[in-house]
Amino acid sequence: MAILGIDLGTTNSLACVWKDGKPELVKNSLGELLTPSVVCLDKEGNLAVGAVAKEQLITDPEDTAASFKRWMGTPKTFTLGGRTFTPPELSALVLEKLRRDAEEALGEPVTEAVISVPAYFNDNQRSATKLAAQLAGLKADRIINEPSAAALAYRLVHGEGDACLIIFDFGGGTLDVSVVECFENVIEITAIAGDNRLGGNDVDEAIARYFCAFNELRPGSLNAEQQAILLRQAEQCKCALSWSNLAVMCLPGPDGSSYTLTLTRDLLFRLCEELFERMKRVLARAIRDSGRNIGEIDHVILVGGSSKLAVLPDFIASLFGKPPLILDDPDTIVARGVGVCAGIKERSGEIRDIVMTDVCPFTLGTSVVNDDKDQNPHMSVMIERNSVLPVSRTDRFYTTRDNQEKIRVDILQGEEYYARDNLKLGEVLITVPPEPAGKQWVKTTFTYDINGVLQVEVENPSTARKKTAYVVNPSLHLSEEELEQKLQELAAIRSQLDQSEEEQLLLATAERIFAESTGRLRKETGRLLDLYRAMLAEGGGPALRHRERKWMKSQLEKLEKYREGEVFDLELPDSWEDDGE
Ligand code: AMP
Repeated sequence: MAILGIDLGTTNSLACVWKDGKPELVKNSLGELLTPSVVCLDKEGNLAVGAVAKEQLITDPEDTAASFKRWMGTPKTFTLGGRTFTPPELSALVLEKLRRDAEEALGEPVTEAVISVPAYFNDNQRSATKLAAQLAGLKADRIINEPSAAALAYRLVHGEGDACLIIFDFGGGTLDVSVVECFENVIEITAIAGDNRLGGNDVDEAIARYFCAFNELRPGSLNAEQQAILLRQAEQCKCALSWSNLAVMCLPGPDGSSYTLTLTRDLLFRLCEELFERMKRVLARAIRDSGRNIGEIDHVILVGGSSKLAVLPDFIASLFGKPPLILDDPDTIVARGVGVCAGIKERSGEIRDIVMTDVCPFTLGTSVVNDDKDQNPHMSVMIERNSVLPVSRTDRFYTTRDNQEKIRVDILQGEEYYARDNLKLGEVLITVPPEPAGKQWVKTTFTYDINGVLQVEVENPSTARKKTAYVVNPSLHLSEEELEQKLQELAAIRSQLDQSEEEQLLLATAERIFAESTGRLRKETGRLLDLYRAMLAEGGGPALRHRERKWMKSQLEKLEKYREGEVFDLELPDSWEDDGE
C-alpha cells in the first residue's frame, strides 16, 4: 500500500507518492496539483474544501477559514457555519480531501502518510499536525521538515559532488531558511532559522496598506468583503509582476468612482524593504549557526510559492553576490521531496541508501534558580538549537531548600533567558528524601529523536525512583474516546463532500466574480449564475452535465477576461440535448 507524501501548506497543499523509482505528484479530484488549504462551512451546513472554499473566501468570508496552519498548536479557534473548529480539525479536513482524492487517483486505500512541516514548527505545532493526520484517518509517525524535503528532491536531480546549500523556503505564511551540506549519499541539515509569521501574505498586506494610504482610505472603513477583495487584488497584482512590468489595482468607490493604484517592480521592492530586513536577520542567523560564512554557500535555492516574488532574486543577489537557483517548479519541490521520503519509508530499493540527518530547530531546557531567594528562574539549556538528531543530554539538578521533598523539572522550549519567557511543554515531579539543601539531586536526561519526539527522564539516585515523560501538549493529546467522538463529528460534516465539486467550484467562482464586479459585468454574472443554477436544478445525464460545465467554464473565463478590459461577448447556450457524449 502506498504511503502518501503530503506537503500541508499554509496556502496550498499537495500530495506525492513514490512510484517507479521516482516521486510522482498526485492530482486532486479537479485534476489540479495544488489544493488550496481553505475550508468553508456555510450557514446551511454545506462543506467545501479546496478550490471551492477558496472562492467562498470572497463571497462568504465569515464562514471560510484560510491560513489556519499559522495557528497550529495555539488555542485559536475558527467559527464556520456556527460551529467551532480548531486548527488541527480544519487541517484534518484538508488532509482528508487529499487522502480521498489520492485514493481515487491511485485506486487503492491510503492509510499512512509522511507530512512536511516548516522546520521552525515547535513541538505543539508538530503534535497538532500529527493530530490532524489522525483525525483524517492517516497514520503519520514521520514528520519531515519542509527544507529537508526540498534538499532531498534537489539531491535526486543534482546528485553529484559536495555542496553547501541554503534552502530559502518562502511560502504563504512562513519563511524557513536551512543550511544543508551534501556529500556522497549524505544530506545533512546543519542549521535552521525561520520566522513563522513572515510570508507572501505579508507582501499582500503591505500592498493593501499602501493602496489604502495612497487613496486616502482608512483601512477600518472597508467591510470584510471589501478587505478580502482588496487583499485578493493585491495578491493578483503581486503575482502579475512576475511576468509583467506593471499591474493595476482597482476597487469600486462611492457613486460609481473607483480607487486605483499602479504597482511596478520598483514600488514592490520598496514596499518589501521592511520584509527584506526581517529575511536578512533570519539568513544571518542560519549562516552563523551553521559555522559557515557567506562565501562558502554554493547555491541559494528558492522554494515555496512566494519564491516567485518578482523582486526576490534581486534581493538575494544583492546579499550573496550571485543569483539564486530557481528550480523547475518551486511550488512542488517540497511535495516531491516528501514523496521521496515516503519512498524511503517504504524502503524502496532505489533510494534506501540516502542518509538524511536533521537538527532540532529550537533550544530545549529546564528552569533553575540561583538560590532559594531567586524569584526569577532562568533557563538551563539541555539541548542546544541546531543539535543534530537524535540527541540526548544528561545533567544534574540539586535541591535549593532544606528538607525539600520534591524536585520539579520543567520542560521548556525557546531561546529566552528567563524561564517564564519560554514555552512550557510539560513537567516531571519527583519525590526526594528531605535533607539539607544541595544534598539531594536528580539525574535528568532529555532525548530528542529523529521524529521530533521529546522524552524526559528524571531519576533520583538515592531512592532509585525514576519518572519519564513524553512530551505531547495535553490540549492536543486526545483520549481514545475523545478521538472517536471528534472523528464522528468530522465524519458527519465530511459526508457532504460529494461528486459535484466541479459544479460547486463554477458556482462559487461566479459568485466571487459577482461580488467583485459592478455595473454591467455584475448584471451579466448574475444572469449567468441564475441560468446555470436552473440547468443544475433540471438535472440531466452525466454527458449533458459535462457539456454544461464546459460551457459555464468558458463563460466564466470570458467574464474574467472582460474584467481585464477585453471585449465582452456573453454567449447564451443554444439547445441543450443529451447527446450521450
Ligand atoms: P505556498 O504557501 O508555498 O503555497 O505559497 C503561496 C504563496 O505564494 C502565496 O502567498 C502566493 O501569493 C504566492 N505566490 C504564488 N505565485 C506567486 C508569484 N508569481 N509571485 C509572487 N508570489 C506568488
